[in-house]
Amino acid sequence: KAIPRPAFKTQGIPSDTLIQPQPIEIINEYEIDSTGVQQCVASYAKGRFLGKGGFARCYELRDLTTGKIHACKMVEKSSLAKPRALNKLKTEIRIHRAMEHPNVVKFNRYFEDDKYYYILLELCNHKSMMELLRKRKSLAECEVRYYMKQIVLAVKYMHDRRIIHRDLKLGNLFIREMRVKIGDFGLATQLTEEKERKWTICGTPNYIAPEILMGKTGHSFEVDIWSIGVIMYTLLVGTPPFETDKLETTYHRIKTNTWSFPDHLDLSQEARNLVSSILTISPDARPSLDTILSHHFFDGKYTPSQLPEMALSSVPNFP
Ligand code: ADP
Repeated sequence: KAIPRPAFKTQGIPSDTLIQPQPIEIINEYEIDSTGVQQCVASYAKGRFLGKGGFARCYELRDLTTGKIHACKMVEKSSLAKPRALNKLKTEIRIHRAMEHPNVVKFNRYFEDDKYYYILLELCNHKSMMELLRKRKSLAECEVRYYMKQIVLAVKYMHDRRIIHRDLKLGNLFIREMRVKIGDFGLATQLTEEKERKWTICGTPNYIAPEILMGKTGHSFEVDIWSIGVIMYTLLVGTPPFETDKLETTYHRIKTNTWSFPDHLDLSQEARNLVSSILTISPDARPSLDTILSHHFFDGKYTPSQLPEMALSSVPNFP
């Protein structure tokens, strides 16, 4: 005799629909102890997908013991088959893990298993300045001062340690608690001595310095200063200074320093002046980070000490 099936009736869902709970993926971190035995030192629950980059996919990872949520860059080992790619990741880890500054994304942990490398970073819940600018179109000058000061201080911290970031751009300037955090050290390099020159062609088209494109003199710390100029222009105007829809045209404009402020824009003379002084073809003629901070654009002008979260989507009321 057939046993009657219990009637699982869930409101609105047909009774024959199988409701499956979402499985939680657990990632374990192992360490080899002093006796050579592998020990599980932490377990994490994999959460929300945050974004993807060249090699990495980034997810939220919750530490099951402490409850702390990290941003985790997961890099599949099979994607780094070429020794050069693996070396690049190792350099990124070596440089980033030594950084300790309020305006640099904190490097929390690094481990690996059979399939992946895991880089656990400070979670920047407000994404990057690219999303900020997409919403806001452009920023008020006092907001540009607020963000620029933090960016310049973080870059000064890096340069003091002979580290050149080489990929400063809005997408690598993350926001957490309304503070800028510089991230993605994938193209960063540490000079062995102050006078060393680098020759690798790298960067992101809109932000790349002319000396990198010319390839005649090598490059150094000044490439980051150039990118800071491009960032400042972009925050004030809403689009990067050399942007065109053709790569060669953008590169030609960078090499010939062809850019201008749009006529309709109401920008202070100090802001125009600072951007112009930074976007100079000759790297030696660019201002130092200290000179930038003491420029009239900052000097004695109102800079908020903190911005409210609403400033992510609309212009706040300034005193
Ligand atoms: P790649 O080095 O491969 O380019 P990224 O560092 O650009 O990888 O990271 C890929 C994406 O992951 C980013 O575009 C961003 O959306 C997200 N992401 C990276 N780091 C963080 C972080 N600390 N907090 C929040 N999201 C992050």
